[in-house]
Amino acid sequence: MPLIGAHLPTKGELVTAIDAAQRLGCEVVQLFVKPPIQWAALPLSDAVIFNFTNARQRSNLAMVIAHAGYLVNLASPRPDVLLQSRKSLLDEMQRCHLLGINYLVVHAGAHLGIGEKRGIKRMQESLHWLFDRLPDLPFPVTLLIENTAGQGTCLGYNLAQLAEIVGDLAPEKVGICLDTCHLFVAGYELRTREGLEELFRQIDENLGWERIKLLHANDSLYPIGSRVDRHWHIGEGQIGLDGFISLLNHPKFVQIPTVIETPEPETHHSENLTKLRSVIMQKDNL
Ligand SMILES: [Zn+2]
Repeated sequence: MPLIGAHLPTKGELVTAIDAAQRLGCEVVQLFVKPPIQWAALPLSDAVIFNFTNARQRSNLAMVIAHAGYLVNLASPRPDVLLQSRKSLLDEMQRCHLLGINYLVVHAGAHLGIGEKRGIKRMQESLHWLFDRLPDLPFPVTLLIENTAGQGTCLGYNLAQLAEIVGDLAPEKVGICLDTCHLFVAGYELRTREGLEELFRQIDENLGWERIKLLHANDSLYPIGSRVDRHWHIGEGQIGLDGFISLLNHPKFVQIPTVIETPEPETHHSENLTKLRSVIMQKDNL
């Protein structure tokens, strides 16, 4: 069984997400370490760090993952936004370090009209800017670039592009988070054996499994190839339960922590987590 969990709201208090994860029986939790739709945030106080560390130690969580804010665009053509994005991500990496969080997920950026080639170059430069400012290993936070739905001018909607963005940065510094909804609407067929074989082949060819550190398991409201990013409840969207059964029982994917980011966490996470667990138990039905 992979470690299974959910993205959970903090409502201004990091420990809120830890407590909610405990109630849901999660082994892994994903949370924001600063408000996701604003640049500014108060520095983490000693009390916040202490309370968080304490709550985590008391919990049964095997892993905590942070998700970066939504304003960050590491490929922005606007110099002011680009600098602000880089600084904000650097701050989030440092927050993770203080909180003892080992992974920070960020979406691949959007080129906003300057073209994919220049956008990818800008992303590469942003990653180097970031790691030039972070102490070398054993700085323990790995940045995970998440594949996108390819909506608008978003980059990183296929694995070849993700590989280009990551370049030769060590897997301890930069890994990959794969989101099933984003893969699907970007055109990856997850519902057939042939489609999955093609995905696995592309992982081998472009990234290597050691880069894949996290899976976001989300069903999709919109059809394959639509490039519209709307996460949906597990088994109730266009991917469906059968799609998740084959994907999550792949011998490589069972080793990768898996987190849901489906809508209405308060009322629906419990059911979505149950479905995800049952899907993984259905291995023998393949
Ligand atoms: Zn995601």
